[in-house]
Amino acid sequence: MKKIINIFCNDNDKSLKAFIKIKEILTKKDFIISEKFNKDAVLNICIGGDGSFIRGVHGTNFTKIPFVGVNTGTLGFYQEISFENIEKFINDYIEENYTMEKIRLLECEMQTNDMNLSKKCLNEFVIRSNSSEIIHLDIFIDDNHLETFAGDGIIISTPSGSTAYNMSAGGSIMYPTVRGFQLTAVAPIFSKVYRSLSNSIIIPNTSSLKIIPLEKSYKKIAFTADGIDHKYENISYFKFKKAYKKIYKLVFNKDWYWINMKDKFL
Ligand code: NAP
Repeated sequence: MKKIINIFCNDNDKSLKAFIKIKEILTKKDFIISEKFNKDAVLNICIGGDGSFIRGVHGTNFTKIPFVGVNTGTLGFYQEISFENIEKFINDYIEENYTMEKIRLLECEMQTNDMNLSKKCLNEFVIRSNSSEIIHLDIFIDDNHLETFAGDGIIISTPSGSTAYNMSAGGSIMYPTVRGFQLTAVAPIFSKVYRSLSNSIIIPNTSSLKIIPLEKSYKKIAFTADGIDHKYENISYFKFKKAYKKIYKLVFNKDWYWINMKDKFL
């Protein structure tokens, strides 16, 4: 029986060229290409930049079918395959010359006046002010009160998202397989009035992080998951912990993470 491969592609010219090339080679090799998510597929290929990879992962509702990224974007930190290496990638895939990396996700449970909600992310969640005013948050780790934060907001990042917004806010880089997640403040106020840690904190996967907006901040909060804004009214708390689900990514060069780091950031 022919195997199905899902291809998700953004609409820039280079991505469309990559799509045509990949489709042509895979069809000759007897695969069926699906441009929509097909749950019986053996692989998801995301063509574009990191945004395309993130949208691919969300669009499949964090499927277990492995992902691989073909980079035609501006940065492409998730995207290992270059346009020039498409043929080699397909041969390596068919010959199973790859390893499978588990990417740990984060989950956030939220309680509003009348609802209990849950969201997952690949990169990060952000709680921030929806205006130019600061927000005030009580922060607990495993029900231990750590600090009362005042400032622009906080980022709760996965290891694989640590090179994104987290890094811009001064957070640490975490290798994707490290078992933990990171809390990084965005412009925290440190004064005689307000006191919170300016360093980011790496929290083990066995712990949870609870954030309670103080009453005066209830209506000032914006919540984002992987760059997607969600609007909720009157959130009484957020609870972050490792998600039960993981996604899987094919890795063709075992040194790729460090090569990518040097190539994309230095
Ligand atoms: P975007 O605003 O178009 O792009 C944000 C930039 O972050 C792009 O250059 C993107 O790479 C890069 N990026 C995304 N995930 C990454 C990762 N894991 N490691 C390194 N770089 C990464 O939005 P988008 O492409 O949809 O991505 C959403 C992400 O943007 C959010 O999850 C958040 O991390 C990030 N963001 C960053 C800042 C900041 O650094 N100040 C502010 C807001 C949001 P490509 O060019 O390949 O797409």
